[in-house]
Amino acid sequence: MDIQKIRSEFPILERRLYNKPLIYLDNTATSQTPDSVVKAVVDGYTTTKANVHRGVHTLSQEATDLQESARRRVREWINAGSESEIIFTRGTTEALNLVASSFGGMMLREGDELILTVMEHHANIVPWQLLRDRIGFTIKVVPIDGRGVLDMDAYRGMFTERTRLVSFAHASNVLGTVNPVREMIAIAHSHGVPAVVDGAQAAPHMRIDVRDLDADFYAFSAHKMYGPTGVGVLYGKEKWLEKMPPYQGGGEMIESVSFEKTTYAELPYKFEAGTPDFIGISALSKAIDFIERLGIDNIAAHEHQLLDYTTRRMMDEIPGMRIFGQAPGKCAIISFLVGDIHHYDMGMLLDKLGIEVRTGHHCAQPLMHAIGVEGVVRASFAAYNTIEESDAFIAALKRVTAILQS
Ligand code: PLP
Repeated sequence: MDIQKIRSEFPILERRLYNKPLIYLDNTATSQTPDSVVKAVVDGYTTTKANVHRGVHTLSQEATDLQESARRRVREWINAGSESEIIFTRGTTEALNLVASSFGGMMLREGDELILTVMEHHANIVPWQLLRDRIGFTIKVVPIDGRGVLDMDAYRGMFTERTRLVSFAHASNVLGTVNPVREMIAIAHSHGVPAVVDGAQAAPHMRIDVRDLDADFYAFSAHKMYGPTGVGVLYGKEKWLEKMPPYQGGGEMIESVSFEKTTYAELPYKFEAGTPDFIGISALSKAIDFIERLGIDNIAAHEHQLLDYTTRRMMDEIPGMRIFGQAPGKCAIISFLVGDIHHYDMGMLLDKLGIEVRTGHHCAQPLMHAIGVEGVVRASFAAYNTIEESDAFIAALKRVTAILQS
């Protein structure tokens, strides 16, 4: 990959902070957006803005075509069987809330069991807890080992005749661990249990094939994969979506409405109440074009090179360095602490050197508890990061560490 050429597509990377070049290492939280995606948003507002699905007029039809061709693009990209299985949401969080509320509400009864893992983002914990508080089922949690690898024996042993659902991250946003989701899904299915996958951290870094995984549901966010904010995708198997009740009510999701009885639209519209972010949705297809132009395998190889190089230098050159997450094949996320330096202090001083990393609990407080810390500093890489940026990051870490330890 020609990194300099790729970087030229991201104008934000030319910014300077505190008179230093911006080094953006907070890609796990959100990635930056290439010109082609920004242009699709601008074009949407300047040439084709009209509400989708409701109009006979030309603009509305053009806007609808753009949205529906994005749905086709997403379907191909994740190898779903049909466009009916692609539901546009505001993001992974809304997708998981939809599944918990609608599918969970249909599947889980008092006394039943749901399996999650300890490395889940709050988006894959709290929606289930909201439901549990209404219904009264039990949440079981798969633990991890010291490297951040899931305890698969514990997972296998958790299934009982009361297990109705499992839900887990494809990749951890803190540890970088890539879970063996195909195997986990197969185990769940061998017990007749459907599986929900939170793919927020996998979609930007690896090829997703929902049919090969045999996932029942798969959720991800556009803004983490070079796309626009406010758009996400929920893939769901048609056989489940057909049976599930709507998540929200309103326009677009109905077939007919009277005060006596309402009937619902066909899939996927049954789950898309109200005006969607149709401009963002059409820009998502440009983000997929961007990823495919680079090649997801090339992106992953580049990110892994940065991960290995940076990890090695951090461990070798910075005394007191602790990295959380050493799973083989992890994705390019480095969560760390140095000595007893507080993560906020580290993050604030790195920012003054132009380096944007994230600090805190990363919406994974149960995981923080499990690894025995209150928060960590997290650096994460994307296609446009360079070895030179990694060198600058290491130099900055040394400087900041020396200041904070003096
Ligand atoms: N799941 C994981 C693993 C994440 O990393 C995130 C965001 O960081 C989410 C879910 C929530 O994504 P969003 O805020 O885009 O809905």
